Amino acid sequence: MKYLVLLGDGMADYPLEELGGRTPLQAAATPAMDAAAQQGVSALFCPIPEGMSPGSDVGNLSMFGYNPRECYTGRAPLEAANQGIELASDEVVFRCNLVTLDNGVMASFTADHISSPEGAPLIDALNSGMADLPVRFHPGVGYRHLAVLTTNGASVEDLTRIACEPPHNISDQPIKNYLPTGNGQELLETIMKRSQQILGDHPVNRSRIEAGKSPATSVWLWGQGSSPRLPHYAERFGLSGAVISAVDLVKGIGRCAGLQVIDVPGATGYLDTNYAGKVSAALAALEEVDFVYLHVEAPDETAHEGRADLKIQAIEDFDRAVVAPCLAYATGRDDARVLIAPDHVTAISTRTHAGGPVPFALCGAGVTPNGATTYSEVEAARFGVAFPEGYMLTPYMLQAPEITLAAEDAHTRCDI
Ligand SMILES: [Zn+2]
Repeated sequence: MKYLVLLGDGMADYPLEELGGRTPLQAAATPAMDAAAQQGVSALFCPIPEGMSPGSDVGNLSMFGYNPRECYTGRAPLEAANQGIELASDEVVFRCNLVTLDNGVMASFTADHISSPEGAPLIDALNSGMADLPVRFHPGVGYRHLAVLTTNGASVEDLTRIACEPPHNISDQPIKNYLPTGNGQELLETIMKRSQQILGDHPVNRSRIEAGKSPATSVWLWGQGSSPRLPHYAERFGLSGAVISAVDLVKGIGRCAGLQVIDVPGATGYLDTNYAGKVSAALAALEEVDFVYLHVEAPDETAHEGRADLKIQAIEDFDRAVVAPCLAYATGRDDARVLIAPDHVTAISTRTHAGGPVPFALCGAGVTPNGATTYSEVEAARFGVAFPEGYMLTPYMLQAPEITLAAEDAHTRCDI
């Protein structure tokens, strides 16, 4: 059997007045996802466990079939795993965003989508300008980088427990209300202040300003933790597999799960990503492996910008360029299953993530349709919450000989 998970990051949302009371999923033209719902089953599930922060780290861990309550140790350790960064026992890794602060306000948590070639020399400058501090920076993709801090008197537990606000939660707000708090906070404040001195007049920023773009004026540290321990897919499901994504976080979960990571040139994590390259890499991989997880970031990024028009474009691109060819692949054979889902809500109205139930569609071999006619939050709600423990959805797809979603046997699905 062949299995495909197609993940539209942050695709779910709430009804919007500007869309006539519809959600972006309802307003978007999605013939392929609607066909998947019609041919298969669609209902709601909860990828974010009650009380946990609704981030892509928790959401994607669930979608890979891992219970976040048991194995979540922070976002940065998953990204570090993808970069092969080994943590010593007295080290804690932090996500390090390059951001634009304007008079103490979080003007852009992406430093205006700074590119990787621009970010790399800034990270070098931070390393040479902070050689006296117990910190080491590691360059990543675009504005997303890592900082490994050595405990320096505080403990690993202290550093891990410092309250750090994800910067995408405080767009256009004064940062003074959201500075890190907890034992060891002074080290983080020193690093942020020093970064502002180093980045202040850097040539990369000068040319960005000349080009009318926002400069990267500071680092913002958050999402810290120590290395996660995930049982591998081969061990759990007896399956080989691969992951395709532009972002370190998802590739890192794949690496921790013992899956191959396939890097696709031109995968940007935004609207200009290489959809065709990702799909052909996925279908080629399925010639070798049993399972492929294909992740698309654009719906989440556009929702953080509060742009319903761009989010609808991201959803339509996902439907046309990713879901349609993958569905054609699956319907062309009798031993394949396709699961389509978001990892959480990213709401246009708040420009940030939210927990709660979101829709999935699952079709292919052994799947009995449940009567869904389209793919959206509203249509899926007609069939209730099939997986309150959302991390059980993918294992159900991977292990259930027959897939039915009759309401009365909801409990059995959770016992697999
Ligand atoms: Zn996400």
